[in-house]
Amino acid sequence: MKELLFLTPVFKYRIWGNDKLKTYYPMIKENNIGESWVISAHENGPSTILNGTFKGQNLNDIYKTHPELFDNIKAESFPLLVKMIDAHDRLSVQVHPDDDMASQFNSYGKTECWYILDADEDAEIIYGHTAHSKEEFRNLLESGKYDELLIRQPIKKGDFFFIPAGMVHAIGKGILILEIQQSSDITYRLYDYERLEKDGKKRDLHLDLGLEATKFPSLTVYNEISSIVENDNQLITLIEYRYFNVYKWNLKNQFKISNEPFTLLTFINGFGSINGYPYKKGDGIIVPSTIKEIEINPDSFTEVVAAKLPSLNK
Ligand code: ZN
Repeated sequence: MKELLFLTPVFKYRIWGNDKLKTYYPMIKENNIGESWVISAHENGPSTILNGTFKGQNLNDIYKTHPELFDNIKAESFPLLVKMIDAHDRLSVQVHPDDDMASQFNSYGKTECWYILDADEDAEIIYGHTAHSKEEFRNLLESGKYDELLIRQPIKKGDFFFIPAGMVHAIGKGILILEIQQSSDITYRLYDYERLEKDGKKRDLHLDLGLEATKFPSLTVYNEISSIVENDNQLITLIEYRYFNVYKWNLKNQFKISNEPFTLLTFINGFGSINGYPYKKGDGIIVPSTIKEIEINPDSFTEVVAAKLPSLNK
């Protein structure tokens, strides 16, 4: 089987959602779609295969029945999840558990990273905290000293952030993100800006579990982004880490690269062909490990984000 796997995105209504995802997915008719799960085998929204032998089947099933497409990796369930998130309003301040803590809920932990697809001029995120202990965190939170507790980071289009499990974070308003993460849906909400839902109630917080998941002092990220130019194509390494390697390729000309072990591609700009198949902006594709080389021939300037497992995950 040497077919690419094109995936159907799964759209999620969110109260803080916006309409920017329509520029990637014109088939969206509803308003307030906050998330598109572009490549997902997660039970809360698995992608189905759009083409070929496996058309109509879901990624989770294929992962279980055809391990040869995924290099026979040992992971019990498909390890990665790729999403676009379109935030019209601030998301709650949150934290995710690491693998150790999440194992009690039969889940992976959630380490994630964000590539900023678009951002308003004054956009910012919450990226880390200042407390040295659970007690200090709780005290600052309960006395309303959010500015003292939460670290704000101005952002712009094209920025990249790595968010290890245990790091307090929040997406701010006016931000469109491509998120690559461990395939997990566990989030602990620490603070929600005192917002009320339509029914006049506040959303639940998960302070005890959240503080258990939070690392003290706050994790600090040292990540160096590097890039090379080959044949007028810019090849950027966003991160190489134990859960995922993430690259961004800005392509003007033909580009070939080996496909090991297998690759998750999200096209964020342009059109052309990949291994003989047409692609367009918004497409989420898995190149299975039965295909040894990726060949992209852009017909217009193409930006694609590629995610892979590092080999030590086997
Ligand atoms: Zn998160």
